[in-house]
Amino acid sequence: MVEPGRAALVDVGVPEPGPGQVRLDVLAVGICHSDLHVVDHGAGAAWALPFTLGHEICGRVAALGAGVEGPAVGAQVVVHAPVGCGRCPRCVQGRTNYCDERRTLPAAGVGLGVDGGMAAALVVGQERLVAADGLDPALAATLTDAGLTSFHAVEGCRDALAAAGSVAVVIGVGGLGHLAIGILRAAGASRIVAVDTREEALDLGRWAGADVAVAPAGAEAAVRGASGGRGADAVLDFAAVQSSLDLVAVLLRTAGELVVVGSGGGVLPVTKPGPLPSGAGIRLPFWGSRKELVEVVELARAGAVRARTRTFGLGEAEEAFDELRRGAIVGRAVLVP
Ligand code: NAD
Ligand code: ZN
Repeated sequence: MVEPGRAALVDVGVPEPGPGQVRLDVLAVGICHSDLHVVDHGAGAAWALPFTLGHEICGRVAALGAGVEGPAVGAQVVVHAPVGCGRCPRCVQGRTNYCDERRTLPAAGVGLGVDGGMAAALVVGQERLVAADGLDPALAATLTDAGLTSFHAVEGCRDALAAAGSVAVVIGVGGLGHLAIGILRAAGASRIVAVDTREEALDLGRWAGADVAVAPAGAEAAVRGASGGRGADAVLDFAAVQSSLDLVAVLLRTAGELVVVGSGGGVLPVTKPGPLPSGAGIRLPFWGSRKELVEVVELARAGAVRARTRTFGLGEAEEAFDELRRGAIVGRAVLVP
């Protein structure tokens, strides 16, 4: 990220790990829609430039800084990337994604304000590493944001999904949404309805395990059909544009859980009475904890989370970003340096 509105491939040299840090050779790094919010739409405008993008990282341990005893050089790991102050009560609980200082921190994560993984190598604190040996590096990379954010988003719906016959809806079957489908199934959803505006994303939703995949115009009928007319127990909106949030209010069952994950800028009035059904719960999750990342890696090892990845070389990063902009990526684009 070289200047506002512009990311480019430049030479930055190989960083040396300081005390408590580890250098990773990057094996795979996902491109998240959030990267487009940063490059194209001025998200993180307060962060110091330049920095290296890439917050969804799988790497191989290449060098240990002073005082670091493990993991062993050569181990395959993924990076828990959210940045917190490290001192506030939330950070001390391990919930750095909800640091009390979040609004004033100089970065949101590794690759979001400080150097990330869209590079041959990067340096991170050893406390960020989670073992990921044996997993396909491209899949492993997607687990750290697409997987972790989806897992954390589903956490708040566990009670709603525990009931027999529970219905979950995933709006936006992109990088995050397609991983969310397997995670919802593992959390107990009996019927999963996937909604997207793109036909190829609906195919991806079926591949990921959705029972029904429909365009927005068909969503209300599909959810009524799946739920005996009651509506969805949980709706996860990974688009969160105006049209999807309008749809959410129609799909949700009374006392259902709405989880707004996307940063699409849509607005949903929270009023009584209003568009949302009575008893609705609303969550605005951000990323997830290191402990949750360990659980997501375990789910992937068990085969419960699948990712459709398409790999590009670092030199093809601009093309990959363009394809994501145009809505031409199905699943997750992953750079392999
Ligand atoms: P993506 O581009 O891979 O996927 C978005 C999907 O939404 C696409 O399949 C697209 O066709 C679909 N879509 C767009 N408009 C739609 C609509 N009106 N109805 C139904 N589907 C629609 O993006 P991604 O990387 O999966 O990220 C999704 C969103 O989540 C982005 O806004 C991103 O910034 C945000 N995000 C949030 C967090 C968090 O912690 N809350 C973390 C990562 C990403
Ligand atoms: Zn903090």
